[in-house]
Amino acid sequence: MKVSKRAQEVPPSATIAVTARAQQLKAQGVDVIGFGAGAPDFDTPDYIKEAAVEALKAGKTKYTAASGIVELRAAIADKLKKENALEYTPDQIIVNIGGKHSVYELAQAVLDPGDEVILPTPFWVTYPEVIKLAGATTKIVQTEKNNDYKIIPQQLKQAISEKTAMVIINSPNNPGGFTYTPQQLRQLAAVLEGTDVTVVSDEIYEKLIYGDTEFISFASISQDAYNRTLTLNGFSKAFSMTGWRLGYTAGPLEVIKAMGRLQSHMTSNPVTFGQYAAIAALGEPADNAIETMRVEFERRGRYMTDRLNAIEGVSCSESTGAFYCFPDVSGHYGRNINGAQISGSMDFAKALLEQANVALVPGLPFGCDNNVRLSFACSYDQITEGLDRLEKWLTQ
Ligand code: PMP
Repeated sequence: MKVSKRAQEVPPSATIAVTARAQQLKAQGVDVIGFGAGAPDFDTPDYIKEAAVEALKAGKTKYTAASGIVELRAAIADKLKKENALEYTPDQIIVNIGGKHSVYELAQAVLDPGDEVILPTPFWVTYPEVIKLAGATTKIVQTEKNNDYKIIPQQLKQAISEKTAMVIINSPNNPGGFTYTPQQLRQLAAVLEGTDVTVVSDEIYEKLIYGDTEFISFASISQDAYNRTLTLNGFSKAFSMTGWRLGYTAGPLEVIKAMGRLQSHMTSNPVTFGQYAAIAALGEPADNAIETMRVEFERRGRYMTDRLNAIEGVSCSESTGAFYCFPDVSGHYGRNINGAQISGSMDFAKALLEQANVALVPGLPFGCDNNVRLSFACSYDQITEGLDRLEKWLTQ
């Protein structure tokens, strides 16, 4: 049967080969340690589940407003005001079917063919695909290791052309595990003043920050930043709700309305009883469940960073956000390990999986071939065992 050119041009995720092979090995009974996870390994806290059950019992099982119930949008507005110093009316907020859908829909609502989107490396693999699906082109900006892989003001300035419609900032960052400081964001915001560039600030990992890291929302920097920013967030990471598919976007009314029109034809409302659970999630967590997760991630992240840095030829900045370490392993490129020639992150990931049964994600699809991504959304014991294997494999 015919398949559209549009669909043909979207490749399967470049990380899929390693994941598929890891699953195959596991199915054969091989004890694989997986550092590939993009989801918290905790269950959704009970107070959120209970709210969903109550909503179901109360008959919250029908269509709602396509952009989400006003009670949830008001609760999000409240959260953004209290936690992020952002004033949005409920009309300026749309609830989407996960943050991934927020990205897709906002690209459809803002971008036209011929538009350019500035994307600093390392980037979440979904961004370039949704940009392409909107007919726009991606302008990748290669960041530097000694800037902690963050785009700096001069680079942003240089990348802007008359075609630039958007820049995507993701902090805390997947896969980089870094967080822009408020000062760094202010400097980027200053570069954009006087331009027509829309900022997408993907803040989905906002709650997962470590040490003395400070998080601020890009839109809170200034009136100018507020006017040009679409703030993207969701429930997947902070509340361990990846399967619930709940994300949201806040921003200028005309864009949120445009997203609402698209959503009304594409998907309609996010799952009704899930929206009620999301209201509960934003309330006071009864058992401090969110903070408990964060503290545990912090402990694991520190340990993983220390262990990685103790391996010769591996260097890793402390993870300040999200649940990833993104070490530079290029010190081992050019080696032949047990017959496997390691010339880049794809070879590295493949050989490590085959020879030491550790699955991690190569950096190439994120735009950084010198690096690999290890998620610490797995148990401390698994981290210990996986890093023992990695160390042994690299130091043989
Ligand atoms: N943004 C980033 C940077 C992500 O890593 C993810 C999840 N991998 C998302 C958005 C979307 O998450 P979800 O669709 O589960 O809300």
